[in-house]
Amino acid sequence: MRGSFAQRLFGGFLLVLAAGLAVLGWQAHRFETRLFEARERAWAFRELSLAAAALPTSALQRHDSRELDAWCNRMGAAAGARITLVDSDGRLLGDSDVSLDSLTLVENHNDRPEVTQARAYGQGWARRHSHTLGLDLWYGAVPLPSERATKPVLRMAVPQARLANEEREQQRLLLFSLVVAFLTAAALALLSARVLGGRLRRALDAARRMGQGELDARAPEQPDDEVGRLGRSLNQMAARLEERLRELAEGRDQRERILAHMVDGVVLVGADGRVVHANRGFAAILGLAQPPAPGSRFLEEVRQPVLAGLLERARGHADALTEEITFFSPVQRTVEAAVVNLGGAGTGAQLLVMHDLSRVKLLERVRQEFVANVSHELKTPLTLIRGSAETLLDGGLEDEAHRRAFVEKIERHSERLQRIVEDLLELARLEQPGVRAGEESVDLAELARGVVQSFRDAAASRSLALEWHDPGGPVAVSGDVDMLERAIANLVDNAVKYTQQGSVSVRVGREAGVAFCEIRDTGPGIPAEHLSRIFERFYRVDQGRSRELGGTGLGLSIVRHVAELHGGSVRVESELGRGSVFRVEIPVAAALTS
Ligand code: ADP
Repeated sequence: MRGSFAQRLFGGFLLVLAAGLAVLGWQAHRFETRLFEARERAWAFRELSLAAAALPTSALQRHDSRELDAWCNRMGAAAGARITLVDSDGRLLGDSDVSLDSLTLVENHNDRPEVTQARAYGQGWARRHSHTLGLDLWYGAVPLPSERATKPVLRMAVPQARLANEEREQQRLLLFSLVVAFLTAAALALLSARVLGGRLRRALDAARRMGQGELDARAPEQPDDEVGRLGRSLNQMAARLEERLRELAEGRDQRERILAHMVDGVVLVGADGRVVHANRGFAAILGLAQPPAPGSRFLEEVRQPVLAGLLERARGHADALTEEITFFSPVQRTVEAAVVNLGGAGTGAQLLVMHDLSRVKLLERVRQEFVANVSHELKTPLTLIRGSAETLLDGGLEDEAHRRAFVEKIERHSERLQRIVEDLLELARLEQPGVRAGEESVDLAELARGVVQSFRDAAASRSLALEWHDPGGPVAVSGDVDMLERAIANLVDNAVKYTQQGSVSVRVGREAGVAFCEIRDTGPGIPAEHLSRIFERFYRVDQGRSRELGGTGLGLSIVRHVAELHGGSVRVESELGRGSVFRVEIPVAAALTS
């Protein structure tokens, strides 16, 4: 059944209304008909009793049809009805509608219901179609006084059509009332169906918009009936759905943020071989400009046969398959790749996680090199010390001319060992995870001045001019005084150590929020190809010269660590044969700048 709810409601109401009014109309019609009959009956019996009173009883006793028929004619004309006089034996003594001559031809009337009723109960009333007149008639009859057992009867026949006009008028009125009632009720029903339909439509509209994702749509909640409560339930559902969706979106955003910022490469490949999600780490590991877009074909975008093979192999595994694989293009990279079949072994989606091992490998190499370097550094002095000691024990102690030289050698190399161990310890301390420079206020000018002072003798012994450019006031930085002193001392020591002639000058100052200490020398300079590496541990430009001068190869490494721990840096400029400039820069804390 088609049509809106309001239309159907209205249609149903009309049906009920029409049926109700039809029953009501029919009952009213029946009631009215009965009323008319009762009125007719009352009128007929009043007329009959008046007529009976005026009956010429002598003519009746004589059975004088002539007189009685004439009397019937007069009474009939006066009452406007048919008056019939039935004798005890059923023959007609007079009839207003039948001529005197024809009276004997009329059939016996004793079996007429109104006649038998009148004789039995004193009144008779019947309705019948008169074949004599060809009309529907009411028949009223009363018995007349007589000594005979069977009484003569006076009968009056009234055509039912006598009050037809009045009846029709009443029926028209009834019909009109019914039509007015029907139309009024229909108009009111239409109005309320429209109102209810409109409210339902608004609730439906809100539900449809909610279904399309417009969760801020709201259904009317007033008035507080079933439709209002339906609206409230819809609104509560939408609000809860909105809340749930927001939580889900937050969770998804959070997961995406985590994935986006992960260093590890993560990619989810759908069962159809298309990318569902890939993070930036994945692009970075494979050297791609962008992570493959969702929906793109994984193998076409990534073009790494080694990954294709891994994904294929992983299909047969119920658990994660982890392998170390190496890519050779666009850059060589070793990764630990793990593939998980999200739907179990088979053809479902696959999650690939790649952990870059390049850094781990690099650290491993650096550690191995460091151990080798340390062993190498320690081995030489230890061999020399042991050799000297053995020589002394093998008779060298008796050799007065040379034994002092051996002992001095032992002392010199022991000192070197000590320096190496001290520098290593210092480096280890600086490299400890979580170590921080202190936050004491340090005057860099005063500190550098002290360091320069302590190198005066060393410089003088090498005939070097050691120049100090005083900044003319304090240069305050926040940090660790011992670390900073150690760093500046290392740089001044190198400058004095490696410069054969000329000068070493030390300058401290402040420029654009940065405090600096600059050590300039006129030494041999450092070849350009070594400049980027001299801050590495044990890196020396000239191994022999460094060792000869008692260097450990760790000094500049310590300087770089100290500078970085203070949030600063160290850099070098050098020209072969003309000298080098080392410059440490440390940002000045806001409180100290003022
Ligand atoms: P070392 O203990 O050997 O001096 P450093 O780490 O202090 O170790 O320095 C590393 C290398 O840098 C030195 O071996 C030296 O070759 C070079 N170097 C450092 N400072 C200077 C300088 N002022 N002039 C020339 N070369 C220098």
